[in-house]
Amino acid sequence: MRPYTIINAAMSADGKLSTKERRQVRISGAEDFARVDRMRADCDAILVGIGTVHADDPSLTVKSPTLREMRIAHGKQTNPIRIVLDSHAKTPITADILNKGEGYRIIAVSEEADQERVRELSRYADIITCGRDRVDLHCLLQELKKRGIESLMVEGGGTVIWSFISEGLFDELHTYLGALIIGGMTAPTLADGEGFTEELHFSRLILSDMKRLDDGLLIQWKKKHA
Ligand code: NAP
Repeated sequence: MRPYTIINAAMSADGKLSTKERRQVRISGAEDFARVDRMRADCDAILVGIGTVHADDPSLTVKSPTLREMRIAHGKQTNPIRIVLDSHAKTPITADILNKGEGYRIIAVSEEADQERVRELSRYADIITCGRDRVDLHCLLQELKKRGIESLMVEGGGTVIWSFISEGLFDELHTYLGALIIGGMTAPTLADGEGFTEELHFSRLILSDMKRLDDGLLIQWKKKHA
């Protein structure tokens, strides 16, 4: 049992999430930002990898005051629970995700994480330990479900998205394709990691919707079950 999981990412027309230096790029416009804000407001939790925390220092808060008020009116916290996949407990205590906006945070670590750092981070976030040297997603998602998290939004980056896709741990994939080319063989893409080699293992999708937003295209897919 796991939360209903939607992967969401913005990529350039050539499939890059950022530059080869891993510098954040404004890929979407106002309409897509508003859509992502609504998705955040609708879900119970949002997850990113430590690579994204280091590169972008996102706060992952709900930006619209109206959406924040709606959450409160429904008895929820202002922001969804924010989760970092951080096997070795390296999240800086100054990170915006730990300091900006109200709401719970969770840092998922592995058994190899330095216990002194874990203690330090536990002043800012709940700590969940899953996996020996890397966060085990099956174990983590089960634990999140046990804690009442029914819907999860995965916001990147490419390494984390690859793990969710390759382990079959998602239900929908929403990609915003922006009107720009970033290029670069080593620039992060939607699904990095090792990549599948056997056709049998490719993750198959069903197109569920697409629409023009700003000057790009929002494409929504559902996972095709084998
Ligand atoms: P990432 O995917 O955010 O984080 C990867 C790290 O997460 C791993 O190296 C690993 O570090 C940790 N991790 C722990 N358990 C994991 C697991 N089971 N599977 C996968 N990772 C796990 O980092 P990234 O690939 O470097 O991506 C960051 C880039 O993506 C940045 O350039 C950022 O700007 C971009 N980005 C773009 C968007 C977009 O929508 N355009 C969104 C987000 C990010 P440990 O081993 O230390 O735990």
